[in-house]
Amino acid sequence: MSTYQTEEIMAEGGVRWILSHEEREHLGELLDVDASTFDNLKGNIMNRSRMACKKCGKLSGLDDIVHGAVELGVHTKGLMIYTLVHGPTGGSPAHAVDCSRCSEQFEGVFLWFSPSNWSY
Ligand SMILES: [Zn+2]
Repeated sequence: MSTYQTEEIMAEGGVRWILSHEEREHLGELLDVDASTFDNLKGNIMNRSRMACKKCGKLSGLDDIVHGAVELGVHTKGLMIYTLVHGPTGGSPAHAVDCSRCSEQFEGVFLWFSPSNWSY
């Protein structure tokens, strides 16, 4: 197992999923922009720790959430890019998240808090 730190507990509540290099690249691909667009994004602050996919072992990440939103067409890519760069303007409803690698659904529901600045 890697010793790379994948998340950190926030003093004000919640868990930051620290954005990995791989996830940053994946976000760029999903949203048709250069990964460097998200250079200041440290990670999304969620209500729970990352989950490992039961099927392929991938850790749940921001890329899975964005992947799902792109698939469903719930937000424009422009809005998602803005939210990733500036942080969410509102909390998210709790929702299920599917693994972007194999489509298996992660257990339980996920949400992020508001307001939170994802860049620090
Ligand atoms: Zn999977």
